[in-house]
Amino acid sequence: MLHTPDLFEPAIDIDLHDQVLTHVFVRDRLVQRAEGAGPLPWRIYREAGFQVLRVQPVGRHRGVPHVAVTLDGPEPDALPQGWRAGGLRSWFGVLDDATMAIAMRALQVLEWDRTHRFCGACGTPTEQVGYERAKRCPACGLTAYPRISPAMMVLITRGRELLLGRGVNFPPGRFFYSALAGFLEAGESIEDAVVREVREEVNVEVKNLRYFGSQSWPFPNSLMIAFHAEYAGGEMRPDPAELADAQWFPIDALPPLPPPGVSIARELIDWVCAGLRDSAGGR
Ligand SMILES: [Zn+2]
Repeated sequence: MLHTPDLFEPAIDIDLHDQVLTHVFVRDRLVQRAEGAGPLPWRIYREAGFQVLRVQPVGRHRGVPHVAVTLDGPEPDALPQGWRAGGLRSWFGVLDDATMAIAMRALQVLEWDRTHRFCGACGTPTEQVGYERAKRCPACGLTAYPRISPAMMVLITRGRELLLGRGVNFPPGRFFYSALAGFLEAGESIEDAVVREVREEVNVEVKNLRYFGSQSWPFPNSLMIAFHAEYAGGEMRPDPAELADAQWFPIDALPPLPPPGVSIARELIDWVCAGLRDSAGGR
């Protein structure tokens, strides 16, 4: 799955200049050479006629600074020849993993920048804080940090079967089944959220929750926290408001799954299946 590259450090002390490597967006689309050359020095964008609307520092990778830029136009479908603006997902497999991971951070920081230009309490324009990644209201003092929304993901097993679902919001053309997922309610622990969401989505009880890992997922600002759990009871019944379908699948007859290499969902499914196969082989 995509994760922060080795030797990357977040930083807030990087300015935009001709040599700095730049992750350029128009709205939420990443602008790149159509062939996906990787992050380019700002000079190349500037010479192509692109104009800056907003800038945010991102960090240093192997000591090399990276910034994020939101362009002031043009429309994504009116770029100069040789350039392409596409949603980040459309660049998976085109750009290398380190570039993708830094671009995902860049998008999240720019989204925070765009949505916190004014104080949420009193409407005064905010000011960027110099010593941490924050914006502060000069009138009432309210401080806003990048928003990160924790969400749980859980893969439930019953013997050698997996409970997999297809969300009603999965985009058309992405026909696959995945682990269940959902956002936390205010006041919940992550474990509370797993139990509640599973109950709500499929009417099932779970036990033996086991932490797998987490992944930042900037669409727009999730932190996916993934678990394996065992079935503990209840008749499985998908909630049609959340799931187009959910079924128990034997691990040797799985439906289409999320593509490997990108999201934690596929890594979780592969890990649980490998564990089930190992335990069967060891008996
Ligand atoms: Zn204020």
